[in-house]
This record gives sequence, C-alpha cells and structure tokens, in this order.
Amino acid sequence: MSGIIQLLPESTANQIAAGEVVQRPASVVKELLENAVDAGATIIKLFVKNGGCTHVQVDDNGSGMNAFDARMCWERHATSKITKAEDLYNLHTLGFRGEALASIASVSEVEMRTKSDSENVGTRIVINAGTVELQENVAATQGTSITVKNLFYNIPARKNFLKSISVETKHVFEEYQRIALAYPSISFEFYNQDKNLSKLKGGTLKHRIVDLFKVKEEELIEASEQTEIVGFTGFIGSPKLAKRTRGNQFLFANGRFIKDHYLSHAINSGYGGLLEEKHHPFYVLFLDVEPGKIDVNIHPTKHEVKFEDGRHVYTLLQSVIKKSLGFHFTIPTDIQLSNAVNHNSSNALNPLKTHPSSFTTSSPNTRFNPFETPKPRTPTDWEKLDDLLNTPIPQTQQQNIFKETPQSQDVLIEIQEIFQVDNAFIIAKIENELWVINQHRAHAQILYERYTSNQRIASQQLLFPRTIELAKADLNLYFEMKDEINKLGFDTSEFGKDAIIINGLPSELSKADGTDVLVQILDDYKVNFQDLKIVKKDALRIATAKNTAIKAGKVLSQAEMQKLVHDLMLCQQYTSNNAGKAIVVKLTKTSLERFFQ
Ligand code: ADP
Ligand code: MG
Repeated sequence: MSGIIQLLPESTANQIAAGEVVQRPASVVKELLENAVDAGATIIKLFVKNGGCTHVQVDDNGSGMNAFDARMCWERHATSKITKAEDLYNLHTLGFRGEALASIASVSEVEMRTKSDSENVGTRIVINAGTVELQENVAATQGTSITVKNLFYNIPARKNFLKSISVETKHVFEEYQRIALAYPSISFEFYNQDKNLSKLKGGTLKHRIVDLFKVKEEELIEASEQTEIVGFTGFIGSPKLAKRTRGNQFLFANGRFIKDHYLSHAINSGYGGLLEEKHHPFYVLFLDVEPGKIDVNIHPTKHEVKFEDGRHVYTLLQSVIKKSLGFHFTIPTDIQLSNAVNHNSSNALNPLKTHPSSFTTSSPNTRFNPFETPKPRTPTDWEKLDDLLNTPIPQTQQQNIFKETPQSQDVLIEIQEIFQVDNAFIIAKIENELWVINQHRAHAQILYERYTSNQRIASQQLLFPRTIELAKADLNLYFEMKDEINKLGFDTSEFGKDAIIINGLPSELSKADGTDVLVQILDDYKVNFQDLKIVKKDALRIATAKNTAIKAGKVLSQAEMQKLVHDLMLCQQYTSNNAGKAIVVKLTKTSLERFFQ
C-alpha cells in the first residue's frame, strides 16, 4: 500500500540545510576559513569577487584530503570531527556538523583541488548544484583550495535576498577579521577583486590587533584572568579607542566569535566612568569555558551562546576589565583632569555644580579588586593612601567576588565630615579625599547588590491591602515575574481577572508610594530588559532598586548619611552603576590642586 508521505530527495534536503548554514557569501567564507583552520593550515588566503556573490575562494596549506575524502566531504553528515553525539559537547575544533560543504555545494558551483601529505597526486572535483560533474587526478601541492561560484544561482528566491555588493563585502571582511583575530599565529591574506586588502603575518595576538586595526600598541591593555570555571585573555582598548559605533568589539567563546549583550554590558560597566557618553569600548577578548558548561550550538549561523552560570561570567568579566583599567589608570591622567577643569572652569571653585560624569577621575575601584596581584611599580603617596583606606576591608571579600553577602555590620572608615547639599548629594570627607555621592544612585546600588546576593528582603504587611488594575501586557509580565517580585519584599497575588492585590511592601518603601512603585517597576523592567538584553531577574532587580531607593530631595539625618556611605563602600561596585553612570565623584588632593593651577 502506498501513502502520501515521501522522503525528500537528498539534494532537496541539502538545500533546506543550506537555508540554515548558508545565509550569504560571508557564511561560505566563514565555513571555508574554519575548515582551513581545522585542517591545521599555517597560511590561508581568501579571494572574493562581488561581495562573494560570484566568487569565494579559500586556499590553505593544511592537511589536504586523499581522493576518497575529497569525494566524501561533500556528503551531508560527512565529518572527520565527531563520531558520536556526545562529542558535540566536547568539541574543540570549529566544524562539527559535517553539513557545511554539502550545503554550500547544493546552492552553488564548486571546484576543489586538494592533496594530502600521504598521496603523490592530488584530486580535482567539480560539483554543480550538488551534483558531482567531474573527479580527476591532478598535480597539486599539499593543502586544499576550494572555489565557490555563483552562490544561489539555482535558487533565485534566495539570490534576491542578497544585499548590495558593498554590504556583502563588509560581512565577508567581518568574518575574515574574526577568524584572523581568533588565530593570530596563522598568516592570512585577503584579496578583493584581485586586489590585496590585507596581509597578516602569523604572530602574537597583540601584533594581530595592531596589524588589523592600525592602533598603537600603547592603547592596548592586556586583560586576563583564570578561575576554575572560566578564563579570559585578550586586550581591551584604552578609553581613547572607544567609538560611537560598536564595530570593534570582539568576544570569543572557546575560539568562536559570539555576540552577547549581557557580556558586552559587563565590559562596558567595567569601564565605569572612563568612557564618554554613548561611546563603546574596543576589545578583543577570549573566554575559555569547559565545553560542557557552554552551549554554542543553539544555531549554526547565529552567534549566541548559553552559559551554565552566566552571572558568574558577568561578574568575572566586569572585574577583569576594572582590574586591567585599574593598573593602567591608577591615578587620573592629566587629560581627564584638564578636561574636567576646562569644561567647568566657571564652576571650578564649586565642584558640586559640575556634572558628575565630567569627572572621570573616580578612577576604577581597585580596592575591591578580587585578584591580589602585586603592583608593578612603587606606589605614590596617593596609592599608599588608597592602600590605607583598603586595609579594613574583610579579606574574604577581596578574594572572592562571588561571595555574595556584604558584611554591612563592619564599620570601615571613620567619616569625619558628612553633610548633604541640595538634599540630593552627600559630601563626605574620607581621609584626605572629598567624596561627592549621588544619594539616589548610591542607595539604588546598595539595594541592587542586596537583591543579587539573595538575602531575604524584609517585607512589611499593609493594614489595608490594596488592589491595582493592570493592563493585559503588564499583567502577563506580572504573572511571569511574580515569584521574583515577591522575593524582593513585595507580597502580591493575582486578584480577579485583571488586577493584583498588594498585601505587603518592601520595608524600605514608604507605604504612600508603594503601589505606584510596582507599576513603575514593571514599566522600567520592560525598558531595562529590552535595552540591555540582561537577564530578566537582573532587569527586575535594577528596576526595583531604582524605584525603591531614596530620591533626590529627601532630607537625610547624619546617621542615615553615615549608614548610606558605609553600605555603599561595601558594595562590590560602588563608583558607578550598571548603566555606567557615576555614583561617586572623588576629589583627591591631586585633582583639587589642579583646580588651582
Ligand atoms: P565539518 O567541518 O563540520 O566536519 P564540513 O562540511 O565543513 O563539516 O567539512 C567536512 C569534512 O571535510 C571535514 O570534517 C574535513 O574532514 C574535510 N575538510 C573540509 N575542508 C577541509 C580543508 N580545507 N582541508 C582538509 N579537510 C577539509
Ligand atoms: Mg566545517
């Protein structure tokens, strides 16, 4: 009996797979370059014409293939890289699906020449739209050359999706850059329309970055750290290299280029106040994670990853950046200071009138540096002072950034003078520094860190529970986040079809504004979540902290100010908040002196 179900022909199955793997010429470039790397090549040349739409060619001096493999590699699921499914999770090479070549061949005209070390003669093979047209012996040197012509010539619908030649060329070049950065020891050449655009000699990562981006070596700051779970190596750019566009940001996980908003946010916030507004730092960073703890295989052409412990990676990355910048800018540089003075010359005598962000002098918080590394040079007096300020910090907190309970009962430093200005800023004299603290941001940071530490948040029951009606979208959001909301000190539950009832509020919140705050939190949460692509829990915590924190305009008693500043100093991050906005502006002796020069 015959039914209506049929198996798709292999060629159709390959074209469907090609839809996944080959989106544009740059995807072909990526697959071919990765295969060349996997084949152990030390010299790789890329030739492209018309954005790769008509011609992509990759020549390598890697292992090459014998006649059998030269034919086999074009079959779907043909790979030399895995033999069983578990291997997928333990992969150190780049390819792993055994699908790329079959997919590419099914939508283009392909020619390959290859010769392995063990053979005397090479193989030439020609395939059109997945059909092998010719296989013959040829004279060749060891290695492989694959040419892919007329991409999507047999699928006009896909061809129409290609963008302009300049856009496709740009994508191709981006893939080239990524692979070249990931493998600095390999020499690369890139030819566009037969013209050489890039020639990179194998060497160190630093040289590779300098060659590719024509930046000065001194502008590159080394960043590295290793914990049991993850390791980072690479370079970050000095703030001078920051740009208004995000172009030069490269993050790799186990050798693969990834895009991760959450982690780029960690890097940005690690720069704290050192970046100009709306500027994005330059970085080339490599993250090494045990392959089992990261899932890079969500989608073959997307650059997303999933970490088993994303929060850990975030915190580590952020402190690696801070630490590296900390060594680089132990004291404010002349430029930053003169900027601060020039921009605000009319206010120079009244530092309180100047905008906090113009004082990038709140240098990175090296005090909470979790990694004890000796300073490379003899400390200046100001660093000695800094060290002095450091001593009372509990050792455990310095060494383990992941230990999540700040010990707020420890009083750190005696604050000799403390007062409020404009009911918005707290001015504290701490040793010989003058700290100008944004009271709202300080409190929000304290609350945020308290939430992330999973401490129990005190809740206060309302005498008269209140109901609030929510719009459908907000209601859905509420259902989704209800448990999290209640963990932050709210006591809420659904009430009827389109309302929720509030039985209790975080004790920090005055009862008067408690209910409005919940609506505001849901609103801010939506914005945070969209903006930063940060994890939901974090978006909620940021929103709650912001809305629960004391506002500008609130009069504080001496005791309240002392407590706020002490709690702030116990925060892991206290000079600037997650959005990179300054919380504290420190006026050191040097900076004060410069005002009067
Ligand atoms: P994968 O890389 O996932 O294994 P591909 O379809 O990209 O799948 O390649 C199939 C196989 O062809 C590879 O596993 C490898 O054995 C071989 N191969 C592909 N390109 C090269 C190359 N440039 N040099 C040597 N072998 C290659
Ligand atoms: Mg491959």
